[in-house]
Amino acid sequence: MSDKRTEISELGEFGLIDHLNQKVKIKNSSSLKGIGDDAAIIESGDKVKVVSTDLLLEGVHFDLAYAPLPHVGFKAVAVNVSDIAAMNAIPKQITVSIALSNRFSVEAVDALYSGIHAACEHYGVDLVGGDTTASRSGLVISITAIGEAKKEEISYRSGAKVNDILCVTGDLGGALVGLQILEREKQVYLANPDMKPDLEKYTLVTARQLKPDARMDIIHELKDLEVVPTSMMDISDGLASEIFHICKASGVGATIYEDKLPIDKQTFDTAVELNLDPITCVLNGGEDYELLFTIDQKDFAKLEKHPDIHFIGHITKAEEGKYLVTKSGTAVQIKAQGWKHF
Ligand code: ADP
Ligand code: MG
Repeated sequence: MSDKRTEISELGEFGLIDHLNQKVKIKNSSSLKGIGDDAAIIESGDKVKVVSTDLLLEGVHFDLAYAPLPHVGFKAVAVNVSDIAAMNAIPKQITVSIALSNRFSVEAVDALYSGIHAACEHYGVDLVGGDTTASRSGLVISITAIGEAKKEEISYRSGAKVNDILCVTGDLGGALVGLQILEREKQVYLANPDMKPDLEKYTLVTARQLKPDARMDIIHELKDLEVVPTSMMDISDGLASEIFHICKASGVGATIYEDKLPIDKQTFDTAVELNLDPITCVLNGGEDYELLFTIDQKDFAKLEKHPDIHFIGHITKAEEGKYLVTKSGTAVQIKAQGWKHF
């Protein structure tokens, strides 16, 4: 150890992961994919196992002032299932580890687990283990999800090719806008506890934030249509940031079109009400847990009529860069803002 002190914020989250990855040497040939994708891929007989883990901290990832415990439990499972989906695999098992401060009662733990069980039912996964410990401050939840796929079905971030079509599912920006509304109503409540928060108008966006649904429906449909995305990841940090990841891993560029970006009306209207630019919310909002993927042009006809898959652009050569073509036809460089954890 030298005396030099480097702030984590100098590297950022992704820089720190790259830094840690430099010291990792894979020893087992069964470790097909290690650090650097939505999940690790491990050879297992004639199939592969897909493993992903996530850590959620009270006060960082959720605020119990407005997130009900069952929703926190559901979301903790859903975000892991989403990473399994992002590899084009089917989740089968989860383990759940929790750390609790003495603020939490058995009833509170039951409430958290009611959401975990609901998600296990919804995604068809089994809860097979975990760990329980005390915490000095608040609730910590760590979930590991294990999925399965055939080796040739796995979609890595690194498979996008020039002229592939960029697709996203659902609509984007809702979870960020929902979070802003929940934060605003929390402040109103803190200033005046007698005021009842008026969330009626915002049910869709607040649900996007509090209870996201991993797009396993799309994974099953792609399977039925015999489409294997050439690359895929889930949108947890914002579309712009995820496009950067796919482009970096695949050694390509991308062009997307503003008029193709999917945004829900309630997200749009609420963004405007909050003085946020709706397109910025779509590009940089986190936690939507939709899927971003690329397909070979030959598969376009199979997905063309799908009501919930949007074709937002195409893959270009790396030297062509990453651009958003605005409604007025100007090409602007995409900046990966994403979520800053540090
Ligand atoms: P996601 O947003 O899909 O959950 P992350 O950005 O958290 O993915 O992680 C990217 C990659 O880095 C994954 O392969 C993950 O397993 C790996 N990773 C993240 N943190 C660590 C760590 N502390 N040590 C080793 N690998 C890590
Ligand atoms: Mg992911």
